[in-house]
Amino acid sequence: MTRRVFRYVPFTIEQDATAEPEYEVRCVSGDETECGARSGTYIHPVPVEEWQRRYTQETGHRRYRRNFHDYAVMRPTAELGETPEPAELGETPESADRGEMTEPGGTTEPVRAGGGAG
Ligand SMILES: [Zn+2]
Repeated sequence: MTRRVFRYVPFTIEQDATAEPEYEVRCVSGDETECGARSGTYIHPVPVEEWQRRYTQETGHRRYRRNFHDYAVMRPTAELGETPEPAELGETPESADRGEMTEPGGTTEPVRAGGGAG
């Protein structure tokens, strides 16, 4: 028996941040033929949903096919896996000398102002 060995090449799949995703709906209401009205393409789902609500209000059509596209890039994990350098042992001050703080001596008595009224 021949044995096929697939070598596993590690990649991570990431959304391509340089390309914007696309949201769109198409109205598929209708029994025999789909309506086919399109929302147009947006980079956020919100305007698409707003279009749907408005469109349903106007036409009574209620069934949509939603399209979402984005771009993915394969990144070899080797690119990511930069060997982490061991954190440099910072020179910690060996002894943070606890200088004895001398409290400011003397007690301050409240100064009484002036003499009593004669
Ligand atoms: Zn429609």
